[in-house]
Amino acid sequence: MSNDEAKLILDDEDFPELRNEVRKLCEKYPAEYWLALEDEPPESSYPTEFVQELTDAGYLAALIPEEYGGSGLSLRAGSVILETVCEMGCQGSACHAQMYTMGTVLRHGSDEQKKQYLPKIATGELRLQAFGVTEPTTGSDTTQLRTKAERDGNGYVINGQKVWISRAGHSDVMLLLARTTPTEECEKRTDGVSVFLVDMREAKKDGMEIKPIDAMINHNTTEIFFDNVHIPGDAMIGEEGKGFRYILDGMNAERCLVSAESIGNARFLLNKAIKYANERVVFDRPIGQNQGIQFPIADAYIKLQSSDLMVRKATAMFEAGLRCGAEANCGKYLSAEALWACAEACFTTHGGFAFAKEYDVERKWREARLSRNAPISPNMIMNFIGQHVLGMPRSY
Ligand SMILES: Cc1cc2nc3c(=O)[nH]c(=O)nc-3n(C[C@H](O)[C@H](O)[C@H](O)COP(=O)(O)OP(=O)(O)OC[C@H]3O[C@@H](n4cnc5c(N)ncnc54)[C@H](O)[C@@H]3O)c2cc1C
Repeated sequence: MSNDEAKLILDDEDFPELRNEVRKLCEKYPAEYWLALEDEPPESSYPTEFVQELTDAGYLAALIPEEYGGSGLSLRAGSVILETVCEMGCQGSACHAQMYTMGTVLRHGSDEQKKQYLPKIATGELRLQAFGVTEPTTGSDTTQLRTKAERDGNGYVINGQKVWISRAGHSDVMLLLARTTPTEECEKRTDGVSVFLVDMREAKKDGMEIKPIDAMINHNTTEIFFDNVHIPGDAMIGEEGKGFRYILDGMNAERCLVSAESIGNARFLLNKAIKYANERVVFDRPIGQNQGIQFPIADAYIKLQSSDLMVRKATAMFEAGLRCGAEANCGKYLSAEALWACAEACFTTHGGFAFAKEYDVERKWREARLSRNAPISPNMIMNFIGQHVLGMPRSY
């Protein structure tokens, strides 16, 4: 997609220079690049060149403060980077963790940990692409996770299993959530869980196994097995037992960033839908002249614009240091729904050709569906809103 086409529906762009620079980089990675990767086996399906170029340009270090070698940009600027990557048809999810997973180290790590890790994460010398939370038996009920980290001399020994851990094969270190105190001995559900920065290179030599999951999108996602994996004591971030709270601290920023990705993906699909609706002539008229085609596109645009406003509000509140759990969750919910509306409108508009890979609709349509399941589902957002924002009883 050219810059002009990408701008089709954008008339209120902030950070115009940043957007243009990111667009120029992304133009080098067209649909053929992403489609070819989907045909590769798991070992070679990762967009290594693309991620390297974003890293070299400093985009993935946007949120790392300058004193640690990053560019110290705002959350909004980081969002604009991911939004633009997606709007250009590229995959933000291939690398978004490198941008924000470091937030836990930045907010809760010791000075030594920050000095040791953040500059290397900023240059890409250290890839922090994996975030290990989800487990096969506990799913959304994160506080009940069963992966254990037990004291062993000066360090810990890890046993358990994680599932759906994206990019684990392309990460040197992983942020891992593990239980350090059994649930029965804890006062609150959220207690007794700790967060570790695990050196994957060492862990692989000591009983950690990574297995790719064959999924409907190219997300380099994996299962990870820990069998008596020893890690040093200084791998722990912050205090023992407070890990769950540390992770929650970063959730709102993460919600804003993944919502920006949804908005970018939605723009990509909407632009394609508008273009095709105007070009394709059937029954001697452009198909976009039919309300059956035009209205779903207009409806998706309205949803997209309103979700964008909510996400910008949440981001601005986060930047101002205000509580923004409600807004960040509303933005996440709305942007995922808007993305799906755009994906469906684009798919329907393309008729049978939506199924042809060369039209590059089905790839983003498949990717779009993810935002309605992960990293948090609409149901879990409504649980949060119902209970914590609207003051109704916990429903589960
Ligand atoms: C491609 C992909 C990449 C991912 N990457 C990562 C990653 O990098 N790191 C990581 O830790 N995780 C990752 N995940 C996991 C993702 O966050 C989980 O899938 C998600 O948290 C839900 O867990 P689950 O799949 O076990 O679903 P379950 O918890 O089993 O839920 C199944 C369904 O039931 C609903 N449900 C469950 N409980 C309730 C309730 N009380 N009220 C209403 N509805 C309920 C859920 O909303 C969902 O629709 C990824 C997932 C995918 C698909």
